[in-house]
Amino acid sequence: MHKHIIGKNGTLSWGTLTFDSPLLADLQLPFFDIQAPLPGAKLAIIAGMHPNEVDAMEAALRLKDHFARHLLRGSVSILPVLNMPGLFEHAEFVCPVDGKNLNFLSPGDLQGSFSQVLIHHVLHEWAKEADVFIDLHGGDLREDVAKFVMCQMTGDRDFDQHTRALAHQFDADSIVEFAAEQTNNRGRATNELPRLGRHAVMAEGGANGVFDPECIAFHFDGVANIAQFLGLTEERAAVSKQRRNIVVSNFDKVEAPISARLYLDVAAGDPVIAGQRLGRLKDLYGNPQGELLAPHHGLVLMVVNHPIINQGEWLISLAPLPASTL
Ligand SMILES: [Zn+2]
Repeated sequence: MHKHIIGKNGTLSWGTLTFDSPLLADLQLPFFDIQAPLPGAKLAIIAGMHPNEVDAMEAALRLKDHFARHLLRGSVSILPVLNMPGLFEHAEFVCPVDGKNLNFLSPGDLQGSFSQVLIHHVLHEWAKEADVFIDLHGGDLREDVAKFVMCQMTGDRDFDQHTRALAHQFDADSIVEFAAEQTNNRGRATNELPRLGRHAVMAEGGANGVFDPECIAFHFDGVANIAQFLGLTEERAAVSKQRRNIVVSNFDKVEAPISARLYLDVAAGDPVIAGQRLGRLKDLYGNPQGELLAPHHGLVLMVVNHPIINQGEWLISLAPLPASTL
């Protein structure tokens, strides 16, 4: 890994990051480093794994300025656009070099293709010393996501308590504390790093590749609060929680049963009861082709809000909720 510094201003430096693996030879990632004069925890923050998730990427830029002004202890390293090959193509979900979704390749694989090698280097080289790894996401071109945070439990009580405390620095619609034994949500950096003894948090907030000031602030405030919680700054972004912060332990994927036109009845953040209609399906002539029904009580964390859907497509993320919380 090589850092080519192209600018410096006080504690802030920026430039391009390159890696030694031959597969990554043409890759140059923009980076920011903020190094405080006093010792303290190290934060590693990434955004742009999905390069249409512009609120997360914008928050990463604003966090650079925040930490340049306010970091008293420790260090913050930021990669504001991880999926550089996809950025100017507006690539949805995947990295165009190998067609893989960077979000589900952790902990990486040096023997794999471009995206797997990249994830390996980011987690185990660039962020090797990080005390907390923070992955910011939210709303690709066809998606609307609730403001939610994900973290992975491991069964180690003290370790999990700290991870949970980090996640709860965000003011979210929901906090997903993935149960230690769950297997249907794996491969995110946030799922895999805790299994290697490292703290990680992932935030989702945004929609359809457009700026939403509330979502930018959601990401920004959560990370700024983590830094304050760890003693790196004295600045705390938001003092009181305004959102519901509903804690869930997992979520399921509702998939498209057929290729069709989709008429959604729900939006990200909505609570639903078992059997409730989530959307109607119609064929190309406008004839009804069935309904999507909620398989259980739950909280809608993500919807694909584009009205043309493909069979098997992941349309809705639904977190199971007990009826008493609805
Ligand atoms: Zn994403």
